[in-house]
Amino acid sequence: MNSPLGFTTDIVHADRRFGGNHGGVHQPVQTSTQFGFDKVEDLIGVFQGSVKGAYNYARQGTPTTAALEAKLTRMEGGVGTVTFATGMGAIAALFFTLLKAGDHLVSSRFVFGNTSSVLDTVAGLGISVTRVDATSVDCVVEAVRPNTRMVFVEAVANPGTQVADLAAIGALCVQRGILFVVDNTILSPALFRPAAVSAGLVLHSLTKTIAGHGHALGGAIVDTGLFDWSGYPNIAAPYRKGDAGQWGLTQLRKKGLRDLGAMLSAQHAHAIAIGAETLALRARHTSQSALALAEFLASHPAVAQVNYPMLPTHPQYAQAARLFAGGSWLLSFELKNANDCLGFINRLRLPVKATGIGDTRSLVIPVAHTIFWEAGAKVRADMGIADGMVRLSVGLEEVEDLCADLDQALQ
Ligand SMILES: *Cc1c(COP(=O)(O)O)cnc(C)c1O
Repeated sequence: MNSPLGFTTDIVHADRRFGGNHGGVHQPVQTSTQFGFDKVEDLIGVFQGSVKGAYNYARQGTPTTAALEAKLTRMEGGVGTVTFATGMGAIAALFFTLLKAGDHLVSSRFVFGNTSSVLDTVAGLGISVTRVDATSVDCVVEAVRPNTRMVFVEAVANPGTQVADLAAIGALCVQRGILFVVDNTILSPALFRPAAVSAGLVLHSLTKTIAGHGHALGGAIVDTGLFDWSGYPNIAAPYRKGDAGQWGLTQLRKKGLRDLGAMLSAQHAHAIAIGAETLALRARHTSQSALALAEFLASHPAVAQVNYPMLPTHPQYAQAARLFAGGSWLLSFELKNANDCLGFINRLRLPVKATGIGDTRSLVIPVAHTIFWEAGAKVRADMGIADGMVRLSVGLEEVEDLCADLDQALQ
């Protein structure tokens, strides 16, 4: 579903096209947990799948989550979306409802810490997991086995900013009939659409870039329409009906929301939908600020290393520059004096010392001491997390203010 309109034009008018709103310019919040019917046959039809577009119990969706899902589908140019209570809810639904014991999963080893934790859980349930350096398709080729069902990568990895070998991995997965899933949380569809590299599913923590305001948790899986579900062996019989293009999403919605229960609340769906309307504006602003700050840090004598995909010194710069319309707000760096990492963070006045990313305010955190602490030193080394790594999530502040603050904290 590729609209001829500009990204923001399309998104700010999506609510009107969604309908069912008495001419309201914005979608309302529908908080009912139950949905009733005049005729019992219609209630039965909702359960049996013959009545479409109706609701029965809010754990399986509401008009408010559906309005947000329609927006996300437009943003990614896909064929449908299922939303979840958090990004982790979406990741759990992805692995637990689409994989089975005996399957093989290839994952990038550069992933968000909590995603790494789910990979361990999945591996304990009889699904084999191989973690590879996904910045090179060769490592993925080497890992693929006859029972490989899915390849999972983060387009830009949190927090090391490694860029997966997206186009080549996409081509490999198409050739082998493997489901390619891209976590697009950091970039968002304003900067990159994984459909362009043949991803079948796109995953988001809506909490971050898409909401952008730090007032709501949410997650989503968007189907790009590019994967042939009719050949996927793990779709249960009740969901192998009608348009095969919807089988994957149907299973994610039916089993994912029912079995795991991580439903997005109407209030949070609404808050995320409001944030999503300014996505492209924020993405442009924060990409410009983050690049300027990355350049400033890279030229500073006290800084040892800066990770930002749009810096020409980044190992995957060529790919990032070719595929992404901006580098987004995530950057990480190391000081030459790694022992000063905590002192440096304490000297910062503007970025808030907090976990989380993609807020209106800049946020800063030492990752080895926090998010990756439980993982231990060996796993951190494998994932490219240095002990003194500082993660900065660049907010909407004027870049001059952020730059001056970094400068004084580096003195
Ligand atoms: C935060 C994050 C998640 C998890 O999302 P939550 O909404 O916090 O559960 C998944 N992937 C990436 C890349 C993230 O940064």
